[in-house]
Amino acid sequence: MHADLLPLLKQHFGYSEFRSGQHAVIEAALAGQDSFVLMPTGGGKSLCYQLPALLLPQVTIVVSPLMSLMKDQVDALKANGIAAEFVNSSLSREQVLQVFARLRQGTLKLLYVAPERLLQPQFLDRLQDVGVSLFAIDEAHCISQWGHDFRPDYMALALLKQRFASVPVMALTATADSATRQDILQQLNLQQPYVHLGSFDRPNIRYTVQEKFRPTEQLISYLQQQDGASGIVYCSSRRKVDELTEQLKQRGFNAAAYHAGLSSDERNQVQDAFKRDDYQLIVATVAFGMGVNKSNIRFVVHFELPRTIEAYYQETGRAGRDGVPAEAMLLFDPADIGRMKRWLDNEENQQRAEVTWQRFLAMAAFAEAQTCRRQVLLNYFGEARQTRCGNCDICLQPPQQFNATELAQKALSCVYRVGQSFGMHHVIEVLRGGHSQKITELGHDKLSTWGLGKDLSHDYWLSILRQLIHFGLLQQDITAHSVLKLQPAARPVLRGETELMLAVPRLQSVKREPERRA
Ligand code: ADP
Ligand code: ZN
Repeated sequence: MHADLLPLLKQHFGYSEFRSGQHAVIEAALAGQDSFVLMPTGGGKSLCYQLPALLLPQVTIVVSPLMSLMKDQVDALKANGIAAEFVNSSLSREQVLQVFARLRQGTLKLLYVAPERLLQPQFLDRLQDVGVSLFAIDEAHCISQWGHDFRPDYMALALLKQRFASVPVMALTATADSATRQDILQQLNLQQPYVHLGSFDRPNIRYTVQEKFRPTEQLISYLQQQDGASGIVYCSSRRKVDELTEQLKQRGFNAAAYHAGLSSDERNQVQDAFKRDDYQLIVATVAFGMGVNKSNIRFVVHFELPRTIEAYYQETGRAGRDGVPAEAMLLFDPADIGRMKRWLDNEENQQRAEVTWQRFLAMAAFAEAQTCRRQVLLNYFGEARQTRCGNCDICLQPPQQFNATELAQKALSCVYRVGQSFGMHHVIEVLRGGHSQKITELGHDKLSTWGLGKDLSHDYWLSILRQLIHFGLLQQDITAHSVLKLQPAARPVLRGETELMLAVPRLQSVKREPERRA
């Protein structure tokens, strides 16, 4: 080990040991080797370039796409007595000149820049004059069109190896899929890089999925169990964010909305207030998060199915950065899958639609999984696990099967009796013996299946019907108001020729246990 590393780690960062992977990456940088660092969010990527920067003779340039993140990191470094600055469009001309002056004097250890700034010819000339010891490319997946966050500005970073052939480049990302990974290595033209592939497991995060019945009520009841702890609720649209924020406020929650429709001042205000615990909850679109550096987020709720496992992992990864138990809760409606399909059918670029669809299907498979969620997640990231985790809803409450033949027969014949012309909710109302005007007008209260299932709740039936759809006994006709139609697979069940096993519906959330130290 490089003799000076541990005292420096202690002195400047206050830590007594390295996290997995950090030490070897730092040694590689000090030896002038290119490197590729894959570590999950919160894994400690920044230290991999911040520590070597202290020992290297010239400046370390950190490329980062996010202004707020830059400022946070630089403030934290300065607070630790490290000579760091940033340049981006938020600085005045005078401020930029001051930074450049320090760069010329050689007193800066770290300089954070946005990619577009780095690639200005004058800036590159300046760097060539003063000399650079290391380039660190944070969020390196932004260079790849395969990644989930492609930024055209990043493409030009390929230039670095041409202009600064002897300066090592460290690429860092938390995006694990192998296509993106290969692309980063290639685009940046890394030379025999030292590669660190970190584990994606976040053992302190409990993964749970709740089937959606009355989502807002489910959410509120979940939030009421959180004892005022900090959390994020992700929604897929701005409209939904605003609507839900209002509902939560009305119910007495200290919540704020965050999405790209707000001005950047408003967004910063919300983010800062959340950091100070002035808000308990942030209801947000995916716009919220990349720069969130708050360690005591206890839960992340997904109100809708995220579009990729990467996004889900990133977003849930914001919980529990302090290592204390935290929870990722996903509200799942199987109908979201059909909605996505229809939405993609309208996509012009069919190839792109196909990629999006495949990635989305993996996410849907996670939500529908009957096996350990962590195993599903880690397998997706190429990290095979043979043992169950013991800290997800499936491990904690293994799904139970029951003989659902009779229930299925009731449901299927009800679909038949209403002429295969009605959707789930109407079928359920008939089964439960409802007296609505629609039912009486249609004479559906005269059907033999009317009231056959009144001993079971609406949500229970919903779960059964969803499973019948899932197993191909029923189909929702998406061209005609999602009416339910019988499929050939329903016949043997209706005739009593086969038995059907289904999962016992989970109508209640997995209750949170008292805080358990990791
Ligand atoms: P990433 O960029 O990978 O998401 P960060 O670099 O922001 O992660 O680090 C996440 C947290 O872990 C930070 O609070 C950081 O100070 C802390 N950290 C990093 N390295 C260590 C270490 N060796 N020991 C303890 N904490 C660390
Ligand atoms: Zn598990």
